[in-house]
Amino acid sequence: MDQDGPYAKQSLPIQMNILKTLNTIAQCSQPSSGVTRLPFTKEHKQANKIITQWMKEAGMQVHLDAAGTLMGTYKSSNKNAKTLILGSHQDSVINAGRFDGIMGVLLPILAVKKLHQKKIKLPFHIECVAFADEEGVRFPTALMGPQVLAGTFQMKDIKMKDSQGISIQQALNSFGGNHRKLTQLKRSKKSIIGFVETHIEQGPVLEKHKLPVGVVTGISGITRYTCTIKGKASHAGTTPMNLRQDALAGAAEIIHVLEKKARTTKNIIITVGSIQNTPNAVNVISGEVTISVESRSLDNKKRVSIQKEIASIVKKICRARNLFCQFKKTYDQKAVLCDKHLTDALSKSVKDLNYPLRKIPSGATHDASAMSDLCPIAMLFVQSKDGLSHNPKEFSKEADMQVAVQVLENLITNLKV
Ligand SMILES: [Zn+2]
Repeated sequence: MDQDGPYAKQSLPIQMNILKTLNTIAQCSQPSSGVTRLPFTKEHKQANKIITQWMKEAGMQVHLDAAGTLMGTYKSSNKNAKTLILGSHQDSVINAGRFDGIMGVLLPILAVKKLHQKKIKLPFHIECVAFADEEGVRFPTALMGPQVLAGTFQMKDIKMKDSQGISIQQALNSFGGNHRKLTQLKRSKKSIIGFVETHIEQGPVLEKHKLPVGVVTGISGITRYTCTIKGKASHAGTTPMNLRQDALAGAAEIIHVLEKKARTTKNIIITVGSIQNTPNAVNVISGEVTISVESRSLDNKKRVSIQKEIASIVKKICRARNLFCQFKKTYDQKAVLCDKHLTDALSKSVKDLNYPLRKIPSGATHDASAMSDLCPIAMLFVQSKDGLSHNPKEFSKEADMQVAVQVLENLITNLKV
């Protein structure tokens, strides 16, 4: 058992070994050094069998919906009660860790199991969900499960194919889903209290502050551009330094200045993560470079306004170096703020367990982003070792996950609706 951190002494009664359970389901994977579990595959089927067992042990009725989402329902005695949805995704990236997604499926089920064991009945229904496809690795789209519930799924996407030429429609239907019934899954906003997603932090903040869990303030918006910088490819030996139009040197300056800009601007992060250099040869001055420029922020206005500043920085550097630049927007996603009522309730549950409350934004997208089109959302982060994720070394401590289960149990028990 891991016992570091100043709060470990308050560790809760260990009723179940969460790590062991996650290790078991991690076996539902394609052969790889980490976990590789893609939607609508035999590994997904194996995982759903195990999750079904977890849900049944927690007193839930289980079914697979037409979009391939596995759902467990813990019914209120009040038939007309509203529903609180908890969960995350079962799928992984290639060579993933054992926690991203699946931990957020397991922990709320364990919280409900505790209520079930205590024979507690609730004034609202609970649905625990394991969404099929959040990572978007197999098909060129993602988040179908929550989008279908919210009524935002684009039916034309059902024709999208994986690298083997299998469409989502084919994969879904042979898995036990039914593309013809997708539109019937749309929920009425009035019937849902909210969606609470638990997720490994995938960042270093909670570990730095030695906290088991943190409450998420919102999910950052993202804007991505590709920026092509055009210069002149010429001989590296014969072109004097002052007569060059070196696209790569220009890109290097742009990357450096954008990093400085983000370091000195509040609430925005900017990343140049991809670069293609042409002709990319040791003795040729670079003629053309394409970089990606991504900005993320919880503040939608700031994310929009920083685009103008980025463009003016790039243009200024290109002018000074006799280069040309072209921008193309490739992705745009609005930020989503977590709901105040649900977040306050989650925060109270953390504080009631005598842990300091840390509120953090999520830089990554989650199922909760798509669920926000249907209902209020809230998120609980669990500390991740070295902030590592999408990596076989991804790790959360048993004691921290136990705390998260306790927080969820308190949230469900005390939630006023
Ligand atoms: Zn995830």
